[in-house]
Amino acid sequence: MESGKIIILTAPSGSGKTTLARFLLQTFDQLLFSVSATTRPARAGETNGKDYYFMDKDQFLTNVSNHAFFEYQEVYTDLYYGTLKSEMSRIWSLSKIPLLDIDVKGAYNIESYNNYETLSIFVKASSIEVLKNRLVSRGTDSIESIEKRLQKANSELDYARHFDYVITNDKLELAQQLLKQIVSDFI
Ligand code: ADP
Ligand code: 5GP
Repeated sequence: MESGKIIILTAPSGSGKTTLARFLLQTFDQLLFSVSATTRPARAGETNGKDYYFMDKDQFLTNVSNHAFFEYQEVYTDLYYGTLKSEMSRIWSLSKIPLLDIDVKGAYNIESYNNYETLSIFVKASSIEVLKNRLVSRGTDSIESIEKRLQKANSELDYARHFDYVITNDKLELAQQLLKQIVSDFI
């Protein structure tokens, strides 16, 4: 596969990855958001092909069998998420850098491929309490889904040390300025 640089934002759900990804996309013309495939249902306001490629489990698993994924994970029980090779190629063919917003295991796997020039940034909230408050006030997930995400967050924090940078997203503006510096040095 034709390749180039890759920027990965990873974090426990609710830490602010999506918010920071939007900031980076507005700040740097060189970046394009890598739209992932997922079997999770679309949330209100999400668009197919823009936020995710929404597909059912059969379609997803067919893509797995066809080796169509650059990486994929069952992020939550029976909920699959993956980066399609075709998405990466599409972005690289435009001479842009894909910005991936993916879970820590997927990010860790890409880091271990070794043959790509990656910048990986782990985003964390200042505490699990803060994470919970953010997920509740975001208002997009059921209580059950929030509990799943919080349970997972503890183990995800153990992965932080594997990435190039760890940013605490406490004061948003500060996190944005740090990210801007790190990304600008990389691209
Ligand atoms: P993720 O993509 O990691 O799940 P989001 O970007 O959706 O997280 O952020 C979760 C919620 O927290 C959103 O409602 C967002 O507006 C809010 N948020 C993000 N960063 C901050 C911050 N630094 N301070 C307060 N709230 C924040
Ligand atoms: P959400 O359901 O909140 O959109 O995403 C849940 C988790 O799945 C987040 O941590 C998000 O970064 C991750 N995720 C989204 N797309 C991908 C992907 O393509 N691959 C992997 N491994 N994780 C993903």
